[in-house]
Amino acid sequence: MARDAPVLVRQEIEVRGLVQGVGFRPFVYRLAQELGLGGDVQNHSQGARVAVEGAATAIARFARRLVAELPAPGRIDSLHATDAPPRGERTFTIAASEVCDGEVALVLPDLALCDDCRRELLDPADRRHHYPFLNCTHCGPRFTIVRNVPYDRVNTTMAGFSLCPDCAREYADPADRRFHAQPNACPECGPRATVIGGDGEPIAAAAALLRAGKTVAVKGLGGYHLACDAGDEAAVARLRERKHREARPLAVMVGSLDQARELGHVSSAEAALLTSPAAPIVLLARRPDAPLAPSLAPGVTTVGVMLAYTPLHVLLLEAFGGPLVMTSGNLTNEPIAHLDDDAAARLGAIADAFLVHDRPIERRCDDSVVAVRRSAPLPLRRSRGYAPAPVQVAAKPAGPVVLAVGGHQKNAFCLLRGDQAFLSHHVGDLENDRALAAFETGIADFERLFDLRPALLAHDEHPDYLATGYALRRAEREGLPLVAVQHHHAHIASCLADNGLDEPVIGVAYDGTGLGPDGTIWGGEILVADRASYRRAGWLRPFRLAGGEAAVKQGWRVALALAQAAGVPPPSWPEVDAPRREFVTEMLAREVRCYRTTSAGRLFDGFSALLGLRAESHYEGEGAVALEGACDEREPGALPFALAETPDGLVMDWTPAVAEALAGGTAGELAMRFHRGLARVTAEACRAVADATGLDRVALSGGCLVNRVLFELLADSLDAVGLRVLRHRQVPPNDGGLALGQAVAARARAEDESYVFGRADAGDGGR
Ligand code: ZN
Ligand code: ZN
Ligand code: FE
Repeated sequence: MARDAPVLVRQEIEVRGLVQGVGFRPFVYRLAQELGLGGDVQNHSQGARVAVEGAATAIARFARRLVAELPAPGRIDSLHATDAPPRGERTFTIAASEVCDGEVALVLPDLALCDDCRRELLDPADRRHHYPFLNCTHCGPRFTIVRNVPYDRVNTTMAGFSLCPDCAREYADPADRRFHAQPNACPECGPRATVIGGDGEPIAAAAALLRAGKTVAVKGLGGYHLACDAGDEAAVARLRERKHREARPLAVMVGSLDQARELGHVSSAEAALLTSPAAPIVLLARRPDAPLAPSLAPGVTTVGVMLAYTPLHVLLLEAFGGPLVMTSGNLTNEPIAHLDDDAAARLGAIADAFLVHDRPIERRCDDSVVAVRRSAPLPLRRSRGYAPAPVQVAAKPAGPVVLAVGGHQKNAFCLLRGDQAFLSHHVGDLENDRALAAFETGIADFERLFDLRPALLAHDEHPDYLATGYALRRAEREGLPLVAVQHHHAHIASCLADNGLDEPVIGVAYDGTGLGPDGTIWGGEILVADRASYRRAGWLRPFRLAGGEAAVKQGWRVALALAQAAGVPPPSWPEVDAPRREFVTEMLAREVRCYRTTSAGRLFDGFSALLGLRAESHYEGEGAVALEGACDEREPGALPFALAETPDGLVMDWTPAVAEALAGGTAGELAMRFHRGLARVTAEACRAVADATGLDRVALSGGCLVNRVLFELLADSLDAVGLRVLRHRQVPPNDGGLALGQAVAARARAEDESYVFGRADAGDGGR
C-alpha cells in the first residue's frame, strides 16, 4: 500500500457494442475486483454503463484492459468516459438492468457450444454430463430465445424455468463462467428433451431410429431440422420425396472436424469457419470417396457440412456415430418450422419420429451457408450465428432510419440506423402466403426488438415482387417516402457497403434476373455506380426467354434462342420431344411471348443445355450449377467472346462462343472454356470502362458470383488487366444481400437534396 492515500477519482463509462449476453458484466466485475476499484456495471437497452472509483492509475489500467481483454465474441464499438465526483464506493456491484429510450442495444446471434461446455457435456463426473441444454456466457442460444431487450432471463424463453440452488449459485458467483448466463440450466431445473415415436432415453432412441433408416424431425436452435442417415441412399431418397425436394443439395452435420475431413477437403480457412462460434454450413469440395448417399447432392462437386453446434446435436451425433443429413424442417419453398404445433402439423407426414424439447423458440433462424473464396469467407446465406449482429456500413451516423424490403428470392430485409445495418436472418423465397407472413412478422419483430421506426422505405423496382407490394402498402398507410432501387444497382451498392466504401466503382452484376429501367430483364451488367446512383456501361448481348418463367427451368429454351442468334443448328435433347421443340422454335421465330434479357444466370443455363448437361432444371440455377460442376479445370483455353462498342455502351457478345461450342469438344473442356471466355471479356470490358472513367476498382456481385469457377477466373482476369477486386465478405452476393444495398442506396439519396422521393405508384430509374 502506498504511504500517501491515493487521489480518489470516479469515471462513468458508456460502452456500445456487442456487450450483452457475452459475459461482459462478469468480466467487468472481475477486472474491477482485481484492480481494487469500487463502482458498478449495468446493462441497459443501449449497451452497458460502467462506473469505477479508485486510484487514477488503477482506473487508467482498467480502461486499457477493458478493451484489450474483452473475451470473444464480445466487441466494443465505442467507449465514452466522463469524470464524476467520487462517492466513496469501495465495493463493486452488478446493478439491475435498466430500460431506456433512444438507441438500440445489440442482440447477439446464437453461439455454438464452447470448448469448456463441451468438456463438461462429455465428462461423466460433471453434473451436466450428457445434458443437452448446457451453456455459459460464451455460448448458447441468444437471438432465438430473446423476447425483449435488455437481455435478461425474464426477457427470454427461459423465463419459465426457475434456477435450482446450484444453478442460482453459479449465476450469482462473479468468479463463475455462468455468472449472469441468462439461459443457464442443468438437468435439475432446465429444459428437457423427449422423443415422440420412439422409446427410452430420447437421444439414444432417436439415434436408433436414424440407424434404422428413419427420418427424425429434430427441434434445434432456430427451428426444426429433418435428419436421416447421410450414407443411406434409401433414407435420403425417401426424405427428398416426402419433402418434395428433388435435386437441391442437402446439408450434412458431423460431430467433429475429422469427420468433416472424411467428406470434403478442408483448408485452414474452412476449418476456422467450421469451428467458429457461428458454426455455419461450409461448402467443401467433396471427396470422391466420401461415404455419402448419391442422391444427397446430385450433379455437384461440393458438399455442405456443418459441425454439431448445440449440445443436443453433439450428443445425437455421438450416439449415431456418422454424418447426418440435417435439412431445414419444411416443405420446399416454405419457411422453416419453429413452433411445436406447426412443426407437428407440417412435418408429421415427412418425419417418422420427433426429437423435441420444451424450450420455446422465439423466432426462426435457418442455418447459414458460407463458402471460402480466395481464402476469405463468402456468405451464401447469412442467418444463424450472424444475424442480427449489425454490418458496419460507414454511413453518416445521422440520417433517417431506412427499412429495405429486399427481393423476391432468398429474401432478407434490412433496417439501417446510423452506420449500423441490421440485416435480417434468411426469410426465403416470397412465393407463398406462409413466406409472406414470415416476412411481415419478421419486420414487425425487428422493429420492436431494436425499437426502430423506419422513416424511409426502399424496395426493388420490380412492381410485382411481394416485398415491393408490402413497401407500397406500408408507405401509403404510414405516409412514408419510398425509394425504388434498381436490382443490380442494389447488388453493387451492397458490395460497396459490405466493404465500408462510399465512392464510385465499376460494378459487375452477374445475376439471375432483375428488372431494368428499360423494361427488359437485366442480369449481365457492368455499371458505373456509387451508393446513390448508377449508369449502365456494358451488358451481355441480349437474348430471348421464350415463355418467360418457363425458360427459367427449361434451359433448352434458352439454348434454342442462343443457337438461333449465333446462326448455328441447335442440338437435340432426349427429354424434349419434337412438338415442344417446334412450339418453342416457332415462338422464337415469331417473337411471341419472348422476353429480352441480358441475364448471366440464364446464359449459364442456356450453355448448360447446349452442352447437354441440363436441359431442364428442378430449381432456378440448377443448369448453371451443373455447368460449373462439369468444368475440367486443367483445360487452359477460352471460348471466344466479342466486345463491341456501341453508342450506348459496351456489348459482350457470346455468339462466337456458341458457334465454337457446337463445333465439338467434351462438355468438361467446353464448360471450362465458357467460364474463362466470359471472365476474360468481362475483364476486357471493365478495363475499357476504367480507361474511360479513371476508376480502378471493380465490385463483384449478383447471384452468379456464388459460382466458384467464375468468381476465381473473374478475379484473376481483373488482376491481369490491373484492376482491383472488391468482393463480398459479410453479406451474400445473391439476393440475400440485396436489402443492404437498397438501404444504403436509399440513405445516400436521402442525403442528396436534389433527389425527389417516389410515391406509392412511381418507380425511378438511375441517373
Ligand atoms: Zn459455454
Ligand atoms: Zn439447475
Ligand atoms: Fe439478384
